[in-house]
Amino acid sequence: MIRINENYLKLQSSYLFSEIATRVASYQKSNPETDIIKLGIGDVTSPLPPACVKAFHEGVEAMAESSTFRGYGPEQGYPFLREAIAVNDFQNRNADISPDEIFISDGAKCDTGNIQELFATDIKVAIPDPVYPVYLDTNVMAGRTGVFKDGRYGGLVYMDSDPANDYLPAFPEEPVDLIYLCFPNNPTGATITTAGLKTWVDFAHDNKALILFDAAYEAFVRNEQLPRSIFEIDGAREVAIEFRSFSKTAGFTGTRCAYTVVPKSCRAFDAEGQQHMVHPLWTRRHTTKFNGVSYPVQCAAAAVYSQEGQAQTRELVDYYLKNAATIRNEIGTLGYQLVGGENSPYIWVDTGEDAWSFFDLLLTKAGVVTTPGPGFGRCGEGHIRISAFNSHENVEAAIERIKGALR
Ligand SMILES: *Cc1c(COP(=O)(O)O)cnc(C)c1O
Repeated sequence: MIRINENYLKLQSSYLFSEIATRVASYQKSNPETDIIKLGIGDVTSPLPPACVKAFHEGVEAMAESSTFRGYGPEQGYPFLREAIAVNDFQNRNADISPDEIFISDGAKCDTGNIQELFATDIKVAIPDPVYPVYLDTNVMAGRTGVFKDGRYGGLVYMDSDPANDYLPAFPEEPVDLIYLCFPNNPTGATITTAGLKTWVDFAHDNKALILFDAAYEAFVRNEQLPRSIFEIDGAREVAIEFRSFSKTAGFTGTRCAYTVVPKSCRAFDAEGQQHMVHPLWTRRHTTKFNGVSYPVQCAAAAVYSQEGQAQTRELVDYYLKNAATIRNEIGTLGYQLVGGENSPYIWVDTGEDAWSFFDLLLTKAGVVTTPGPGFGRCGEGHIRISAFNSHENVEAAIERIKGALR
């Protein structure tokens, strides 16, 4: 008898996005003339930077000639891309990372999901609330949780991020082994200071734990005092793995390229307490189960590090940051407490009422779609996420309508 992985039955259906879609469709049906503005999505809207498009084309041309054609590439990525990343994203920021510690992949979503297969099933996992749902669901699939009850899975340690702690995940009050952190955060847009991140690195050392640090939004950090990588912190190389992506940095959500940094000194332990290095394990996993990212896409990603690419991606991110600043300032002026919108494309608003009621108010009175916080966890009650991924024109129009609706 073929049996299923019953952990899948514990998963909560993705109620959030289908419910949003249903409410939006129903409103549109009764108000066909309203041009609904979507500030709910976590996807970019601007096209690829020209430098990336040019390199992408050149990569395709190379595949069309027998002299430059390439078959299977190295699973970890081509050296030209790994070297550009190590120098530009790390060494130039005093983070000691070498090219062979970088693993090119087709997504930070896949990597954050796949990495936990390296670790034992009966470890204690600490996950922020609210959270990017991938960390949670992949641990449910792996059998690291109990059943879902009162908005939470049994067996996990939830780290609350709420107004009382400025939306920075609370330190676990019991020993934990694997810790997920994401800064700048999705969904809250909160950032962490160097000193704050250092306390997590110290915590991981003290508890023989490992930190999975998701830096998918590091390109939005414009305050030079804030860390963009956990490897800017002393001692992080032994206790952290970092995930990065070209998705939000350079508009690659539909093109697919990301990378994971596993330092050679990053360690974990066996049941006897014997130390093992994680790098060879991830190398083995990656080379066995992954075939590498296509050559033209890696060419396009490498172009991010050219002089034009750097200028163009900065401009791209600045465009969204301008939207974020507009949303942050205007919603703040209306008297709402919020976080994010600086060094982040997301603004997390404390609505002071039920999140879905506030969502409905913005939808039906302003024709603006946002994302209700409870979709990201119990601490999302009473909050909505507003995304800066849209055109300036749409964001300005949305803000005017929201001001009218809330007045
Ligand atoms: C968008 C996003 C990613 C990037 O995922 P890709 O698979 O590389 O597109 C990773 N983490 C978070 C929190 C995100 O919001």
